[in-house]
Amino acid sequence: MRGVDDGVTGDAVRGAHAVRGAEAHRGDAHPGSVHPGEARRGGVPGRVTRTGPLAPSADSYDARESYDAPRGGPYGHGSYDPHDPYDLHVPYGPHVPYDVIVVGAGVVGTAIARELARHPLRIAVVEASDDVGEGTSKANTAILHTGFDAVPGSLEARLVQDGYRRLTAYAAACGIPVEPVGALLVAWDEDQLAALPGLLEKAKRNGYEEAALLDAAEVRAREPHLGPGALGALDVPGESIICPWTTPLAYVTQAVRAGVDLHLNCRVEAVEAVGQGRSAGSAVGAGSAESAGGTGRAGSAGGAGSAGGTGRAGGTGGAGSAGSEGGAVSAGGTGSAGSAASAGSAASAGSAGDTPGAAPPPAGDLHTLTTTRGPLRTRYLVNAAGLHADTVDRMLGHETFTVTPRRGQLIVFDKLARDLVRHILLPVPTALGKGVLVAPTVYGNVLLGPTAEDLDDKQATESTAEGLHRLREQGARILPALLDEEVTTVYAGLRAATEDDDYRIHARRGQRYVTVGGIRSTGLTASLAIAAHVTELLADCGLDLGGPPRDLPPVAMPNLGERFPRPYQRADLIAADPEYGTVVCHCERVTRGEIRDALTGTVPPVSVDGLRRRTRARGGRCQGFYCGPEVRRLLEDRGRPEGR
Ligand SMILES: Cc1cc2nc3c(=O)[nH]c(=O)nc-3n(C[C@H](O)[C@H](O)[C@H](O)COP(=O)(O)OP(=O)(O)OC[C@H]3O[C@@H](n4cnc5c(N)ncnc54)[C@H](O)[C@@H]3O)c2cc1C
Repeated sequence: MRGVDDGVTGDAVRGAHAVRGAEAHRGDAHPGSVHPGEARRGGVPGRVTRTGPLAPSADSYDARESYDAPRGGPYGHGSYDPHDPYDLHVPYGPHVPYDVIVVGAGVVGTAIARELARHPLRIAVVEASDDVGEGTSKANTAILHTGFDAVPGSLEARLVQDGYRRLTAYAAACGIPVEPVGALLVAWDEDQLAALPGLLEKAKRNGYEEAALLDAAEVRAREPHLGPGALGALDVPGESIICPWTTPLAYVTQAVRAGVDLHLNCRVEAVEAVGQGRSAGSAVGAGSAESAGGTGRAGSAGGAGSAGGTGRAGGTGGAGSAGSEGGAVSAGGTGSAGSAASAGSAASAGSAGDTPGAAPPPAGDLHTLTTTRGPLRTRYLVNAAGLHADTVDRMLGHETFTVTPRRGQLIVFDKLARDLVRHILLPVPTALGKGVLVAPTVYGNVLLGPTAEDLDDKQATESTAEGLHRLREQGARILPALLDEEVTTVYAGLRAATEDDDYRIHARRGQRYVTVGGIRSTGLTASLAIAAHVTELLADCGLDLGGPPRDLPPVAMPNLGERFPRPYQRADLIAADPEYGTVVCHCERVTRGEIRDALTGTVPPVSVDGLRRRTRARGGRCQGFYCGPEVRRLLEDRGRPEGR
């Protein structure tokens, strides 16, 4: 039985005790409620760790013994029942390697972990920062896209459309706030007006039939505060706004409760990868890679691994080429051995395939990840490292794409601006991108942005005077009255742009490795579809999923949406628990009960920013000026009311 003495040190947080928190203020659950499945699963939830070593030393474990172990049996979970939807029992113990490790706990990595958790597998997510959703996933425009404007036939188009359907249903089931406000693509000149019928056609080619053209009078009737000069619009009623913070939190909550381990503050610095008869490339500056037939060392602490021809391939041709590594992607069969460049072109054709006939590595071979918290071992590896997906890819010996951070700055206007806009107001897209929009948020604010600036610094999330000035100029045309409203805050996010216009999702069967790169401006929407796609790719790579996916016990997330009842408005909740009647953050009307729930949840925050993303506390017009000290005190006291 997994328990507190399972060899993990540090602040391991186990989920079973924490069901109460997140579900406490939902109508469909009550404080202390535990789903029947949770109860049956006993102490099986995964671990959430932020400090301490992760695994015993490499010398002390026997990979083959661990891998060959039958499910259940000697590892203490009893027999596995494939017909029980809540029986997710998998072998467990400090010497058992993971079946799959997912690198990155953004919205994409957590979605993948959740999908994999539907199978009897031993899974971990490793994340460099101290929380989930700390990368690009926390700073976007929060639109649930229909995919009406995607490039027809692209992988992104398919996954965005599928993801839209999946996330719409998932959000409704979990209580993630979504508002189907619809979007208007507004034409401001004759050229843009002339482009609208083509966009309507494109929407149809993408399978979206609900779009329609509006004339100038109809546009004005729909959006009375629009600036002068709007000539017409394309109406896309399905476009919606969603809470981007609750989404990855819901995924990871379900995943951890289903047994997935979440290791935070755990940056992957190098990978000693399994490979098909070769080592997985060489670290730059480290000479040639060793070419032992099974496991080879790849990558470097700096992530500067290169496939640039110095690796000595163990019997396969095309030494060091990305195309030859472990049967890399084949795009229409062209990803043959040769130069990294040829592999790049193969990959850019968008295939997520494999070199036909590539044999999987021996079953006992394991990837060894060197992390900032010690080594971890896994049979399969998924790279969902967002802006750093290219760096992790190089650790496995591949040099097929480079992530260029494309900064998007945004301005958040006060809630008093909310009545100025009814839809998401999109520009007609140009070759330079989707352009600047005005959109309401589920928290009751209004967004203006984003910019699109290609940079070379993956940390450059600061706002600039020039960027904000340009946004205000464009906003003045779209919705002039908006600029008279007060600004609550500004922020910026970095899109993981690559040389390609499509996602870079590649499976490498010979390495039991899947890259999930280039998830630029639609990853929130597509996350659940990406997860299903990656699971299929892993199965193609030989992962035994143990049967069809089962439904996970449901999760009920706290409502952060302004259009749905919040705890301070619910007499029933306040009567049952007065903490829901004690407002701590007055701008956002966040109660002490909600803060307590977040701090005792399955994946609790450790920073005021993490707490804000779970509750909205300190997110309002005073930005924590008034409630800041009390919020911090509650954070430090883990939500305990004063004097208790
Ligand atoms: C301005 C802007 C607006 C956007 N608007 C929308 C929108 O309206 N709708 C929509 O659907 N999408 C939108 N997007 C896109 C969406 O936000 C992204 O596609 C999505 O967040 C990407 O998620 P991710 O999990 O791939 O990356 P991330 O959220 O960046 O997660 C990757 C994680 O990997 C971790 N990591 C990296 N390297 C390592 C390592 N070596 N070891 C361990 N961990 C590592 C990082 O710390 C990070 O937490 C927008 C993006 C931006 C920037």
